[in-house]
Amino acid sequence: MKHLKSPVWFPYAQHKLMADPLAVTSAEGVYLTLESGEKLIDSISSWWSVIHGYNHPRITQALTDQANRLPHAMLGGLIHEPAKELAQRLVDITPDGLNHVFFSDSGSVGCEVALKMALQYWINKGNTEKKRFLALNKGYHGDTFGVMAVSNPEDDCPSMHHVFKHQLPKHIFAPEPSMGFKPDKTKLSSDIKTFKAILDAHHHEIAAFICEPIMQGAGGFNMYAPDYLATITQLCRDYDVKIIYDEVATGFGRTGTLFAAHHANTCPDIMVLGKALTAGYCGHSATLASSDIFNAFYSDNPDHALMHGPTFMGNPMACRVACTSIDLFLENHYLDKIKTIEEILKKRLLNLSHSSIRSTRVLGATGVIEVNTAADWHGIQTFAQKRGVFLRPFDRFVYTTPPYVISVTDLHQICDVICEWFS
Ligand SMILES: *Cc1c(COP(=O)(O)O)cnc(C)c1O
Repeated sequence: MKHLKSPVWFPYAQHKLMADPLAVTSAEGVYLTLESGEKLIDSISSWWSVIHGYNHPRITQALTDQANRLPHAMLGGLIHEPAKELAQRLVDITPDGLNHVFFSDSGSVGCEVALKMALQYWINKGNTEKKRFLALNKGYHGDTFGVMAVSNPEDDCPSMHHVFKHQLPKHIFAPEPSMGFKPDKTKLSSDIKTFKAILDAHHHEIAAFICEPIMQGAGGFNMYAPDYLATITQLCRDYDVKIIYDEVATGFGRTGTLFAAHHANTCPDIMVLGKALTAGYCGHSATLASSDIFNAFYSDNPDHALMHGPTFMGNPMACRVACTSIDLFLENHYLDKIKTIEEILKKRLLNLSHSSIRSTRVLGATGVIEVNTAADWHGIQTFAQKRGVFLRPFDRFVYTTPPYVISVTDLHQICDVICEWFS
């Protein structure tokens, strides 16, 4: 049996079939160093998180300084500067209207908290009818039970959780938007019509709508128009349905704007941040809420309180890392760097053509190649490794979400690998 030399149980992996994982011993900038001495460009930033590259001196310094002063203190009855500062920074940089910040230790839990806030908002207001959620097909909001039930419900790939489909509560799903980022106008209006019809039929039982704005991530990298986001956000308002944006993957520049909500100039009732929030240094997330949401919990009734409290919420090291990461992002004009990455990815990937390619998409610092079947990628990981690049195909997709500090040469190297694969 493979891998039983180590007790580690790997994510999303059938141990009997999986390839040997690569042993990493250190990392610097965009490079992972393997036990063998090989250096590989990390083309996906360790699941989109390592936006400043590995081992960034400023972040590492901030982390060690904080570790020496106060590595942890719980937020139950205690408060500290790093948590206060990060909460304020997040309120300042996210769309106007989000004024309260709840910290958790992962994106999944941050989304669970968002669902819980939305559900209890209505309970606290005396409405017990609104107990279902509306979500989009092809969405992904994490792997815990609450969010599995609002992630892609379909059997087709990439469905992460279909084995549980009869075990999960039944929520309501709208078809994934089909119009693209630069919209096909006919599809845009028909997708909006479909969405409106669902609200019309079900709004009385829907507590909130949850989506990944502009770009769906692990459910298949579907990209959609700001006009669609703006319109469905307004429709939810009109129908008294709360809106949750899951920006765990799209937040901090990945789609070309600081937050994907900025493409549409919209503000949700609740927004979730994770992944790049802590730049790949540690797990943390933030669930931001409007005053309308917060005020529904603020009362003399103890039952109106939000009963949630991850042990490591607001961890001072995580908060210090996040504040330093935001400083670096703003001081170094990352949106310009992302623009350059986008231009190169567009030039290199969008026009790729091959009989097995179904579609190519680029938005911000994200490039995606979708082929007809997962088997079309068989062998690409080794192929890329021989050319100095770490790629991780999943299902029908190969994607690159590089660290924003990547050099033009290294970015071309990632594109070369993908292009050579098809030639
Ligand atoms: C990764 C991801 C999550 C889950 O975050 P974890 O930190 O892995 O729990 C939730 N939503 C989106 C959009 C994600 O990409």
